[in-house]
Amino acid sequence: MTKIGMKTPLVEMDGDEMTRVLWALVKEKLILPYVDLKTEYYDLGLMNRDATGDSVSADSAAAILRLGVGVKCATITSNAARREEYGLAALYPSPNGTIRAILDGTVFRKPIVVSCIKPSIATWKAPIVIGRHAYGDVYKAAEMEIAEPGKVELVYTGLDGAQRRVTVAEFKGPGVVQGIHNFDASIKSFARSCFLYALEEKLPVWFAAKDTISKTYDGKFKAIFNEVYEKEFKEKCAAAGISYFYTLIDDAVARVVKGEGGFLWACKNYDGDVMSDMIASASGSLAMMTSVLVSPSGAFEYEAAHGTVQQHYYRWQKGEKTSTNPAALIFAWTGALAKRAELDVTPELAAFARRVEKAVVDTIEAGKMTGDLAKLAAQPKALDSWEFVDAVAERL
Ligand code: NAP
Ligand code: MG
Repeated sequence: MTKIGMKTPLVEMDGDEMTRVLWALVKEKLILPYVDLKTEYYDLGLMNRDATGDSVSADSAAAILRLGVGVKCATITSNAARREEYGLAALYPSPNGTIRAILDGTVFRKPIVVSCIKPSIATWKAPIVIGRHAYGDVYKAAEMEIAEPGKVELVYTGLDGAQRRVTVAEFKGPGVVQGIHNFDASIKSFARSCFLYALEEKLPVWFAAKDTISKTYDGKFKAIFNEVYEKEFKEKCAAAGISYFYTLIDDAVARVVKGEGGFLWACKNYDGDVMSDMIASASGSLAMMTSVLVSPSGAFEYEAAHGTVQQHYYRWQKGEKTSTNPAALIFAWTGALAKRAELDVTPELAAFARRVEKAVVDTIEAGKMTGDLAKLAAQPKALDSWEFVDAVAERL
C-alpha cells in the first residue's frame, strides 16, 4: 500500500508514564501503517528533561514556532516526590508552562462527543468548549514565604528609575505573598483567538472574571475583551449570529450548570485549568477531551487534556494490561495531522485524520470501549487499551 505523504514535519514531543506507553502504541497501530510520517522528535520524558537541564522543553517550543504544528504527549510536572522517585538532579517547571509561555496564546478544550455517554448535567444539549488563556497569572507568579513581621510592597521601577509602590500587606507574623502579572498584548491575543475560534466554530462567546473584587487586574481583562469585541469582531459576530456575553465568574459557573451548553467559555488561565477538568468530567471522561494551544503567531500545539495516568502506569509496570483510554491522545495526533494538512494543502492527509477520528467514535458507539467509558455507558465489558486500539485499527 502506498502511504499518505507529508510535506512538512510535525514537532513530536514524547512524554511520560502510561501516556508514553500509549503514544508508541497509537503511532504503531493507527498512523505508521498509513502515513509516511515526518516528525522532528523531542523527548520531553522526565529523565531527558533532567539530562538536558530542561533545555529540551524550550527547544521543542521553538520548533513549534518554526514548523507551525506540534503534538505533545502528557508529561510529569516534577515535584519533591518525583525528584526522589526518579533521582532527578533538579526540579524544573512544567513543560506545558514553559511551552505556553513561549507560544503565548490560548488553549481550546473540546469534549469528544459519543452518543452512548450522556453528560452528567442533564440540561446540556451541546458541548461547552473552554478557551483558556495560556499565559501568566498564577502560572508565572513570584512567591515568597514571610517568616518575620514586616511590610510587603509592590514596586514598579520605570526605565527612568522613577518608582511607584503600593502596600500589599503589613505582616505581624509569618505568612505568604504572591505577585502575579499579565501583559495587555497577551490578553488582547487571548481575546482575538477566542473570537476567531468562535467564528470558525459558530459558537457564542462567554467571558467571565472577578472585576468586582479585582477592579484593576480583572477589570483590565474585562476592558480589553470588550474593546477587542467592539473594535474588531462586533460586526463579524453579528453577521455570523454569534453573541458575546460578559459576566462574573461565579455567575458564569451557576449559569453553566443550569444551561444548555453549546458555547465557547473564555477563561482566565487558572479558571480554565479548573473548569476544563470539570467540563471534561461532566461530559464523560478526562480522556474524552481534546486540547489545542493556538498562538497569536499562528502556531498550533495539540495534546490530550489529561495527565500521565500515573496509577495505571504502576499497574502496567507490574504486567497488567490496563484499560487506559487513548482517545484524547489519538485526537491529539489527528488534530495535528489535520492542521498540518490544512497548512500544507494535502487533503489526503486531512481526510485520513478525520477517518481515524470517526473510527474512534464509531468503535465506542458500537460498544467497544475502555473502562472509564464502560462504567458510564453501562457496558458490561471493558476492553484494555491494546484491544481498544486494535478495534479502532480494524474499523479504520
Ligand atoms: P491524570 O494523569 O490525568 O489522571 C487522573 C485520573 O484520571 C487517573 O487516575 C484516572 O482515573 C483518570 N484518567 C485520566 N486519564 C485517563 C485515561 N486516558 N483513561 C482512563 N482514565 C484516565 O492526573 P494525575 O494522576 O493527577 O497526574 C499524573 C501526572 O500527570 C502528574 O505527574 C502530573 O504532573 C501530570 N500531568 C500532566 C499533564 C500534561 O502533561 N498535560 C496534565 C495534568 C497532569 P482512575 O485512576 O480512577 O482510573
Ligand atoms: Mg489541570
